[in-house]
Parts: sequence; structure tokens; C-alpha cells
Amino acid sequence: MASTACKYLIAGSSHAALEAIHAIRMVDADGTLTVVSRDRGLPYSPTVLPYVVSGKLEPEAVALRDARYLEENAVELRNDAALRSLDAAGRRATLANGDICEFEKLLLATGATPIRPPITGLDNVPHHVLRTMEDAVGLRHAMSDAQSAIVLGAGLIGMHAAENLARAGLKVSIVEMYPQVLPGYFDAEAAAMITDAFSEAGVDMRLGQAAEAVNATAAGIELSLPDATVEGDILLVATGVRPVIDYLEGSGIETDEGVLVDDTMATSASGIWAAGDVAQARDFYGPDRRVGGILPGAVEQGRIAGMAMADDPGLKPYPGGVPLNTYSYFGHKAISVGRTAGGDGLAIETRREENSYLAVALDDGRLAGIAAIDRPLDAGVMWQMILRRIELGARLDEFLADPLTSGRRIMSETWR
Ligand SMILES: Cc1cc2nc3c(=O)[nH]c(=O)nc-3n(C[C@H](O)[C@H](O)[C@H](O)COP(=O)(O)OP(=O)(O)OC[C@H]3O[C@@H](n4cnc5c(N)ncnc54)[C@H](O)[C@@H]3O)c2cc1C
Repeated sequence: MASTACKYLIAGSSHAALEAIHAIRMVDADGTLTVVSRDRGLPYSPTVLPYVVSGKLEPEAVALRDARYLEENAVELRNDAALRSLDAAGRRATLANGDICEFEKLLLATGATPIRPPITGLDNVPHHVLRTMEDAVGLRHAMSDAQSAIVLGAGLIGMHAAENLARAGLKVSIVEMYPQVLPGYFDAEAAAMITDAFSEAGVDMRLGQAAEAVNATAAGIELSLPDATVEGDILLVATGVRPVIDYLEGSGIETDEGVLVDDTMATSASGIWAAGDVAQARDFYGPDRRVGGILPGAVEQGRIAGMAMADDPGLKPYPGGVPLNTYSYFGHKAISVGRTAGGDGLAIETRREENSYLAVALDDGRLAGIAAIDRPLDAGVMWQMILRRIELGARLDEFLADPLTSGRRIMSETWR
């Protein structure tokens, strides 16, 4: 059992962690910085995992940062070194192997882990999840003997994985308990267009069907739905994630669904911050703190946490999470920024053309959300317009006709 000490300790080595490292090094080039990660290699993004599964990308080729970057930025990366417990007041972290790391400042960037739904029999049948490189390599290996797959859950992870499995030649069924795909990101009309593209590509779409039981049979996996049975050689469970906070038990750090943080990503314990999928932070649209679960949120929170940890005078408080997703599928491009699905009290304007769709949500005349399929949009500009609560007023028609040009014009006038 070894004991080491550093100024900055970061738990996790993905998007939130890497952004924090960058922000810290902008201000403090020399403070000792150690990253302890559950991962076994260089940092990677979970978003590439479906491509590792399909064989389009190799595990060795997906690093977000290479060894040279870590060396140049004086980052000590300790792999296979999960945080096991934390003495917040004593500023000591214990790793899975019993090693102790003392720190001045700690960032919790341990992300999220898949939820396994309470389906009868699930514990007894072989199934896969997709969050880590090991998950992706395991699924890729299982695929090599498979002709068919069942994907449980039509969120972003399930949809990305299903497309890549289908592209790799498997017959894929998607089972989703909600009546549409990507609930929360797209409204029913946009979701129906996405569903059609999957059906046209030969994916068997079972929406509005809650899985009741699952069995292993001689032929593979059998999933019982209320009115039907779906069969497949392999089962991928993609029904959501929850923050990784088990190591905080007994630490006294306040948690709810995730680690509760303030607008500088500080936790309830002095000298400890949290960012990314593990954090429960201010929501842009209301008073509650929410777990975000998307990459741009992890990047922004990681940057703010890093700035706060390094006492960067340029730090601005977190404005609250505005969801931003760009989603490509079977040659189409869907974008969803802010709230257009499930937002109470919003006025929704939609425009449908033969092959494209636009939905704009307005809150008292101000842009609150926008979603589009195969329409040119600058997601970053839309994100800024929502954050700045830009009023569209007399420009609404112009904006609805061409949100790309109109949005850029409005923002360039605002920035000037
Ligand atoms: C297949 C897939 C597709 C996705 N597609 C999209 C998308 O299209 N758009 C989008 O916005 N988001 C997408 N996401 C979500 C996105 O990947 C996450 O929001 C983002 O990775 C969050 O970054 P993070 O740094 O907070 O956490 P993570 O990326 O989850 O990283 C957590 C890090 O912590 C480490 N760790 C975990 N436990 C411990 C521990 N106890 N001690 C030390 N280290 C630990 C892990 O090894 C990892 O390095 C997708 C995710 C998946 C899996």
C-alpha cells in the first residue's frame, strides 16, 4: 500500500476531467496533477464505442489525448486505479488497490454507469451494456458469432449502437417502452422520421412496448413483450445511466441522484469539485439541480471546475445546463438544442417539408429550444441564443424560414 500526495487530484479521465486539466494548466503550469482512472489506457470518449463495436474504429485509435500531451502537461495518469473511498475532511482518497492519494484539491469526474432495468430473468441471461472500452470489446467479440441483436432502449446510446450493429450486418430489433425513439430530445413528429429511417434500413422497431421478461433459449435470447416475443443472438441493455458515486458513501459529501454542486462546480466539501455526468448542477430552465448526461455539459462543467480549482480570475458561474445534441443516423442529421419536447408552457412552431423538419420552442417570445432534421443549423449559435434568452419578436418568421442565416445574423449583432 503506497501513499502519495499531489496538489490536484482528478478522478476519471474522460471529457470532464480532460477539460479541467486544460483549464488548470492555463493558469498553473507546475502544480502537481495526478489523474486516477478506472480505465486501462489512454483517455477516450464513450461516444466512439459504437464504432469500436462495429469494427469501424480500433480501440488503439480512439485516444482523446496521447502520452505526449500528458507528458507535456505534467499529468501523471494512473490507470486501473478506481477511487474506492474518500476522507473529505482529511483530503485523502483511497484507491481500489488500497493506495492512498493525499490532495489539496480534488475533482470528481467519474461519469455515469448503465442502469439495469428490473426485468424478470435479466440477471440470469447473458447481456451487454455499453459504457466502457471493455464493454465495447466484449460486445464486438460476441457479435462475431451473432446474426441478430436485440437493443433494449431507444435513447442515444441504444440508437447509436443499433445503427452500428445493423451496419455490421446483424438483424437488429429495438425495443422501447416509450411510444417514440429519443424521448426528451425530439418531439413525436421528428422521432417518427428517425424511426422511419431505421425501419427502411431493416431495423425492427418495437416502440411503446415494455419488456416483461427475458429468457436464454437454445437459440439465443427471447424477450417477452406484452403482445409479442422478440428473439436475438445477443442482448444490449441501453435503458439509461446513473452517476458513479458509490465511493462517496460515508464521505459526508452531499449527493442526491448525483453529486450536488454549486455554480462553480464545488461540492459541499471544501477543496472538492464535481463535473460531468456525475454532477447534479443548476438547470437552466428551473430551480432544480439536474444530472446532465451529455458531452457538451461535461466539457463546460469540467472547464468551470478546472478554472475554480486553479483560482482562475476569469471564472464565470455555470449558467445552467442547456441540452445540445447533434445526432447523425443513416445519412441524416438531427439536431436538438434546449427544450422542444416535453417543455411545459412553451409555444411550439413547427415546419415540415417533404424531407426535413423544424420545431422551435418559444418562451414568452424568447428562443427556448430548437430541433431539426436535415435542416442546416449552427447548434453552437442556437445554444448561445437560448443561453442569452434572445427575443425573436418581429424576426420570428425570418428565423423560422432560415434559422442558420437568421441565427448567425442575430448573434453577430448581439456580440458586436
Ligand atoms: C455509446 C454512447 C453514445 C453517446 N452519445 C452521445 C451523444 O451523441 N451526445 C452526447 O452529448 N453524449 C453522448 N454520450 C454521453 C457522453 O459520452 C457523456 O455525457 C460524457 O462522456 C460524460 O463525460 P464525463 O467525463 O462526465 O464521464 P465519462 O465519459 O463517463 O467518464 C468517466 C470517467 O471516470 C472513470 N471512472 C469511473 N468510476 C471511477 C472511479 N471510481 N474512480 C476513478 N475513475 C472512475 C471512467 O473510467 C472514465 O474515465 C454517449 C455515451 C455513450 C456511452
